[in-house]
Amino acid sequence: MKYLLEVKNLQTHFFTEDGIVPAVDGVDFELEPGQTLGIVGESGCGKSVTSVSILRLVPNPPGRIVGGEILFEGKDLVKATESEMQSIRGNDIAMIFQEPMTSLNPVFTIGKQISEAIMLHQKLDKKAAKERCVQMLKLVGIPRAEQAVDEYPHQFSGGMRQRAMIAMALSCNPKLLIADEPTTALDVTIQAQIIELMKDLKEKLNTAIMLITHDLGVVAEMADHVIVMYAGRVVEEADVIDLFKDPKHPYTIGLMKSKPSLDGNAKRLDVIPGAVPNPLAMPKGCAFHPRCSHAMDICKEKMPELNKFGDNRKIRCWLHEKEGGEK
Ligand code: SF4
Ligand code: MG
Repeated sequence: MKYLLEVKNLQTHFFTEDGIVPAVDGVDFELEPGQTLGIVGESGCGKSVTSVSILRLVPNPPGRIVGGEILFEGKDLVKATESEMQSIRGNDIAMIFQEPMTSLNPVFTIGKQISEAIMLHQKLDKKAAKERCVQMLKLVGIPRAEQAVDEYPHQFSGGMRQRAMIAMALSCNPKLLIADEPTTALDVTIQAQIIELMKDLKEKLNTAIMLITHDLGVVAEMADHVIVMYAGRVVEEADVIDLFKDPKHPYTIGLMKSKPSLDGNAKRLDVIPGAVPNPLAMPKGCAFHPRCSHAMDICKEKMPELNKFGDNRKIRCWLHEKEGGEK
């Protein structure tokens, strides 16, 4: 099997009082074992909904996967039972979030939380689980791991909490780690340390990573392959070097030109005019056309397909279709 994860025409919609929000609307991508796939785009483009869909954690109601396939090692997770998903989550697929304080329980020690995860998924007794926990804390660079294991989350700094989250996520040797904005809440120095740590762990453990971020710097540092999402769809896909050397889609080009805001915590991308469209009133044709300086008549009428462009790239844009993109 070539791919660890194959997402095919995934559609996750939210059924709100005001109408249907097609948060993910026909997303396709593949992830090879050990590979790091970056998923980039502004807030609200469907990145996080894609990741919670893979874990089957879409809040229902109002959300629901309404179509497509999520093949993990060939098995379609869309059709898996809840008990199958429970054994996959944490065991085969683990996730780390932006703010570890929301995922760590303040009333239990770090060691107890990581050990519980280990005991739940691996057949280890309490003592062995705690030893494994100390090992993991050492692996992620937590100083004095033997003592730290008995400390509470509030006794850890933000950076150490994120390291503890990574230790917890990796403690069961998942094949896939989904990291949703893993460094966004951290200051710049700690961000760099966490990126180094994740790169290092990926080498050691060969875990595939799905890295969700609005931060192209993090993508350039870590990803092998990148998909760019806009308005619930993939608009460009390429190897990381090709994408940075020669971005093709007007939205990707806009992202590349955007500078993070001065607080280093960019949620806004200032260079691209306008905003992500209201999902209840998606523009006709290419969803990016109201913001695109290249928009042509056809862009306002017809949605372009995601077409192959050369060997390792796909683009959803009429401009490139005309310039010799192949079907
Ligand atoms: Fe711009 Fe048209 Fe390409 Fe959309 S399809 S990105 S509007 S050129
Ligand atoms: Mg998000």
